[in-house]
Amino acid sequence: MELITKVIPTPGTVYKPSDPFLAQVIENTRLTPKDSADDIHNIVLDLSRSEIAYLEGQSVGILPPGVDEDGKKHRVRLYSIASSRVGDDGTSKTVTLCVKRVVFTDEATGQEVRGVASNHICDAKVGEDLALTGPTGRKFLLPQDDQVNLIMVAVGTGIAPFRAFIKYIFHERGSWGGKISLFFGAKTGFETLYMNQENNDIGQYYTKETFQAFQALSRQEKTSTGERVYVQHKIAEQRESLWPGLKAGKSVVYLCGLKGMEAGVDKVFGSWAEQDGMDWEAYKEELKATGRWNVEVY
Ligand SMILES: Cc1cc2nc3c(=O)[nH]c(=O)nc-3n(C[C@H](O)[C@H](O)[C@H](O)COP(=O)(O)OP(=O)(O)OC[C@H]3O[C@@H](n4cnc5c(N)ncnc54)[C@H](O)[C@@H]3O)c2cc1C
Repeated sequence: MELITKVIPTPGTVYKPSDPFLAQVIENTRLTPKDSADDIHNIVLDLSRSEIAYLEGQSVGILPPGVDEDGKKHRVRLYSIASSRVGDDGTSKTVTLCVKRVVFTDEATGQEVRGVASNHICDAKVGEDLALTGPTGRKFLLPQDDQVNLIMVAVGTGIAPFRAFIKYIFHERGSWGGKISLFFGAKTGFETLYMNQENNDIGQYYTKETFQAFQALSRQEKTSTGERVYVQHKIAEQRESLWPGLKAGKSVVYLCGLKGMEAGVDKVFGSWAEQDGMDWEAYKEELKATGRWNVEVY
């Protein structure tokens, strides 16, 4: 199978952790409903004093201030870019991130633990600076050939790079020749980021001929066997639409979001390969090596 040629990042300044760019917060709004346990924010940063040029599918790093418990400087945390290359305001001078506040209870001590970077970002006030590194990433990018089918699978904040892809494709580019399938997992319909009544950035493109979107709402829907519905269940229903293209090397798969999502999705594609007498692990390696299987889970 030949290599899929991806879009090439435009030359621009790439900031290192030793010398980050101070990006001012222009917007910080909560995306999840007030009563949701998940606190996810849409963050817009000002890049106008930099020469940063990014592409859909890349990430930036955020360097939290201060030091860790060993007295060492905090390490950079990566965040997928949620805006297309021109930014949500079209100036090419802003970048949008979609950040989930990490809060959990340490089972050993029973203490609440708050993630360093995600809380720093979600608490940032408009006008404050965040230390930014990057942009980085050369794999999770769109193919150059628009006849290629795109299969995007997201859970939670994993929607960020796909919001960027979809905005670029339908808003700036205007169209895409191949078929685009988006599978998005959330707990409830109110928590479908960028696809709800208040913020319908992605939902507005549902009517496009080449775009189909499927939501898996784990706390709202049940499978016929009584299980919670996850993205893999929605993918399993689309064999006819997805598998022939992937088998023929005409599709690119992107998975982004919670680490736990990968195994379930992998199993569905694996079962289709098996039905056709193929060795899925070997085929997946080929898909990976040629840029057709792209995973960014965290
Ligand atoms: C390529 C890439 C792209 C990413 N994109 C995004 C994005 O778009 N949006 C986004 O929100 N995040 C994204 N992340 C994750 C992000 O980089 C951080 O890892 C995340 O925000 C947590 O960082 P933190 O500093 O807040 O938490 P930390 O202070 O680093 O603490 C998190 C630690 O707590 C552990 N932990 C977390 N939850 C629990 C739990 N419930 N129980 C026990 N332990 C737990 C984790 O394993 C981790 O070790 C991305 C990561 C990568 C690698």
